[in-house]
Parts: sequence; C-alpha cells; structure tokens
Amino acid sequence: KISENLPVIRQLDDGAINRIAAGEVVERPASAVKELVENAIDAGARRIEVAIADGGKTLIRATDDGCGISEAQLPLAMSRHATSKIDGSDLLDIHTFGFRGEALPSLGAVGRLTITSRVAGQGAFSISVAGGEMSAVRPAALGGGTIVELRDLFYATPARLKFMRSDRAESQAISDVVKRLAMAEPFVGFTLRDVTGGGDGRVSFRADPENGDLFDALHGRLARILGAEFAENALRIDAEREGLRLIGYAALPTYSRGSSVAQYLFVNGRPVKDKLLVGALRGAYFDFLSRDRHPAAALFIDCDPQLVDVNVHPAKSEVRFRDPGLARGLIVSALRHALAEAGHRASTTVAG
Ligand code: ADP
Ligand code: MG
Repeated sequence: KISENLPVIRQLDDGAINRIAAGEVVERPASAVKELVENAIDAGARRIEVAIADGGKTLIRATDDGCGISEAQLPLAMSRHATSKIDGSDLLDIHTFGFRGEALPSLGAVGRLTITSRVAGQGAFSISVAGGEMSAVRPAALGGGTIVELRDLFYATPARLKFMRSDRAESQAISDVVKRLAMAEPFVGFTLRDVTGGGDGRVSFRADPENGDLFDALHGRLARILGAEFAENALRIDAEREGLRLIGYAALPTYSRGSSVAQYLFVNGRPVKDKLLVGALRGAYFDFLSRDRHPAAALFIDCDPQLVDVNVHPAKSEVRFRDPGLARGLIVSALRHALAEAGHRASTTVAG
C-alpha cells in the first residue's frame, strides 16, 4: 500500500533545468542586459550598443565589435555549462565576468534568443533558441562582432512576467547596469538606445571610449556618468597593500549626499554591493562627515583572483575576500590620507 504513494525521483529534462537556472540568473530585464554586456566585454569589444524596447520586456539587443563566435561554436555558446572562459581546473583563477556558461542557455529558456556573429576572416552565422529549442546554424549578414537579440523575455514563464515593474522602472534599472559597467571599462564605448515603437529610437546614454592613462580615462568616464561636479570635487585614490590595489576617485566631504546613491564599488572590474566595502567607505569619512551625509565615490579594488572569491552567486554582486580586514584597512587608510591632505591643502590656501 505504502509503495503506491512513494515519491518517484525523476531526472529533469534540459528545458526544465534551464528554466530553473534562468530563475536564478535572470531576475528582470536588467539582469539579462548585465549578462549580455559582460559577455561583450569578455569578448574584447571596444564598442557596445544596447537597444531596448518596452523596458527590455519585448526586446533587448546587444551589439558588439568583439572577437565573435565561429559557426562551429554557436551551438555550444547556447549550451548549458559550456564556456570558453575557464577549463574548470581552477575556479579560483577567474579573469573574466563570465565563467559558468549559464547566461545564454538561461536566456534561451525564458525568451526568444538569436545570436548573429562573425569571426574576422570567416562568414557570419546565426542561431536561435526559443522555449529551449535550438535552431540549426544558418548563414547571416554581419560586418563583424556579435549581435545578441532577446525578445519577449519571460513569455514562457507568466509568473515571472507578473513580477516585472513598469517599463520606466525596468529601463531605469537597465540604465543603472549599463552605467556601472561603463565606469569599470572607461576605454570601451557604450550606447544605450530606447527603440520602443521601432526605428532608431532615442539614445538615453552614451559614453565614447576615453583616452589617456587609466586615471585620465576613469576621470573622464566618471565626469560623463556622475557629472562634472563630481569630477571637479573628486580626489584621486591610488594605494596598494599586500597585493590589493585600490584606485578611483572619492569626493570631498562638501560634495557628500543625503543618500548613498553615489557609491560605486568594484572588485576586479565587477560592480559589487558589499557590506564590508560600504562600511569601510563610511568609516573612512567618519571624521569628515556628519552622520546624515553619505560620501560619494567610485572605487576599484584589483587583486590576484586567488585573493577574492567571486564564485558566490551569479546574479548577486557579492564577493568574499580571503582577508576582509586587509580590504577594509586599505580603503580606510587610503581615503583618510587623501581627505586629510585635501583638508590640509584647503586650510593652508585659506591661511594665505
Ligand atoms: P559564460 O559567459 O559564463 O562563458 P555565456 O552563456 O554567457 O557563459 O556564454 C557562453 C559562451 O559564448 C562564452 O563563453 C563565449 O565564448 C561565447 N559568447 C557569448 N557572448 C559572446 C559575445 N558577445 N562575443 C563573443 N563570444 C560570446
Ligand atoms: Mg556570460
């Protein structure tokens, strides 16, 4: 009798597996945009354009001039756990945004996905996935690089569709994602276009590739994204301690804000929202700011990938430092030093 009610263990099919993974990786249109732009950066693109319609719900299209994907590799790009970025032997040595090989198959499980790509010296080809079903690879027309087009996100998962916010809110989230990635890649040009209703649409964000050394480029890019006022009030940060390098710009206390919206933190080029680092930023300004003000800063920590674990969660921007105290100490001391020096300069200028 009991055996009739016994649960049966079944192997899930690939479609179901991909939809489950998609639930983790693709929360909303902005998470799809993040995956596509990161892929373009990983492909060495110098220019990336993202076009969206209806807050990304009906269309997200990322166009890049990166290395492209060859005819033979297109089906693999769409396959789960297939990646060109690691060989699996060392998960602690990751130098790219991607490495799980999960984004494209996940997007193909929850939307209609088409990749068109061309490797230099070869022909252009395209492949599509809809509802988890992959098409054959077909010849296509494209000058170079890659176009990834995602239509009707979540059409196959109505429950998800209901949780999406207004077109305006989703567009805003997409803009935030693109701007954050653009801060981390000042030598790459970014364009965000809203093509709702068809046609060329309207450019909602544009940042041309910056020139000069890293600090010039970063300063120019931050001026473009955070505004000239931030750039004029920003102190250059450049410090190193035991293999951790900290660079970026931190604003004078007089430029502080009533909320923490202007705090941008990156670890090895990845935008992160990390309590430890935010706390360090706050701690650095402790003597310079009243409690109700928030410092504005864009800070980049770079280190050997061995010193930080980014393998925490695909969609969440968490990282785990091997030595959290080191990261905190570096931020606090570098910023305090810059702030004290700026304060000293200001007071000696006033004194004559
Ligand atoms: P991951 O980025 O983790 O490797 P993805 O599913 O995002 O996984 O992509 C799978 C593979 O497809 C990548 O490893 C890469 O080789 C290729 N790929 C994806 N997007 C692009 C692109 N824009 N240009 C060139 N290759 C790409
Ligand atoms: Mg990827």
